[in-house]
Amino acid sequence: MGKENTIWFFEDTGGLKLGLPVENILYHGRSNYQDIYVLEVKDHGRALILDDCIQLTERDEFVYHELIAHPALFTHPCPKQVLVIGGGDGGSVREILKHKSVEHVDLVEIDAKVIELAKRYFPSISKDLDNERVSIHITDGTQYVKITDKKYDVVLIDSTDPIGPAKALYEINFHQDLVRIMKEDGIMILQSESPYYHADFIKKVKSQLQTIYPVVQIYTYAIPTYPGGMWSFIYASFKHDPLSVDEAAIKERWQGMKTKYYNPRVHKGVFLALPQFMLEE
Ligand code: SAM
Repeated sequence: MGKENTIWFFEDTGGLKLGLPVENILYHGRSNYQDIYVLEVKDHGRALILDDCIQLTERDEFVYHELIAHPALFTHPCPKQVLVIGGGDGGSVREILKHKSVEHVDLVEIDAKVIELAKRYFPSISKDLDNERVSIHITDGTQYVKITDKKYDVVLIDSTDPIGPAKALYEINFHQDLVRIMKEDGIMILQSESPYYHADFIKKVKSQLQTIYPVVQIYTYAIPTYPGGMWSFIYASFKHDPLSVDEAAIKERWQGMKTKYYNPRVHKGVFLALPQFMLEE
């Protein structure tokens, strides 16, 4: 396709447009929850788009999935029971299962269509969804946390942006409900948007979490296909501080694990290298 008649997909935040040149539309449909595109795009492989927001591309999904999982799983001394809310593409599950101590992962995804499409179009990301250590629950995460009788060492909130079904995952009553199913030294990670464009939102969520957890820290990372190129997670724990881990011990556990972004230096770096505007926030 010549440059002049290239079709582009744009994620439009209202103040910024992020574009991907489309080579092929592999799927387009509307599930009970969201509008879904699977696109073949130039230089980034395939892309999953939910309600016109880029969720992931094959080229840079490793950044997000390694960093939602490994800082928590290496800070916890021996994570066994893990819960993922959202994450229907399977990327977080793939990273979690690299930890041999993990006995079981519950994946709670509201939209079965996302899992179906991830298996069909993103095999390198969804490959571990059928692993015997994984159980998939097709339900709303806000309901699951109210009814399960399980307790978790680590909980990853791997959700879409805080609008639509994901909005409730950022509200304080959901996080108060979540406490019931966390072990007393549990760790929770929350996808927390862009430090450039959502600073007030991050500040609000962080201060709400500080009413529940003694340890609450933000960490950031560079990811090309999210608006602004810099994204964040919030780390919250009843006990374990990600910066007080012993680097040599992490290095020992990390040896032999295949990662493309995470390493024992990055573990502390993502928490320590916060730009001044974030510290002042
Ligand atoms: N892991 C991807 C990435 O790299 O950013 C994006 C996250 S994943 C696609 C987000 C998932 O959260 C979606 O599949 C969406 O259906 C799911 N989700 C949104 N709200 C939810 C809720 N309340 N309970 C469970 N899953 C939810």
